[in-house]
Amino acid sequence: MRECTFLVDCPISQVLKKDIDKKTMFKNICIGEFVQCYRWKLRSSKQDVPITLMPDGTYMK
Ligand code: SF4
Repeated sequence: MRECTFLVDCPISQVLKKDIDKKTMFKNICIGEFVQCYRWKLRSSKQDVPITLMPDGTYMK
């Protein structure tokens, strides 16, 4: 298991880490299978990342 290469400055990671309902997503993706993260995919290909985009491709409300 590795940490996401964008963990330090990803604005969503801290939200996920602190939100009890989303902690699982943080554990599974941000410090796990981060290559599956929609944010990671966009950022890795130098595309703009919508601020509310979640790792699973949904949008934060
Ligand atoms: S939300 Fe995606 S880009 Fe951000 S730290 Fe987690 S895995 Fe990385």
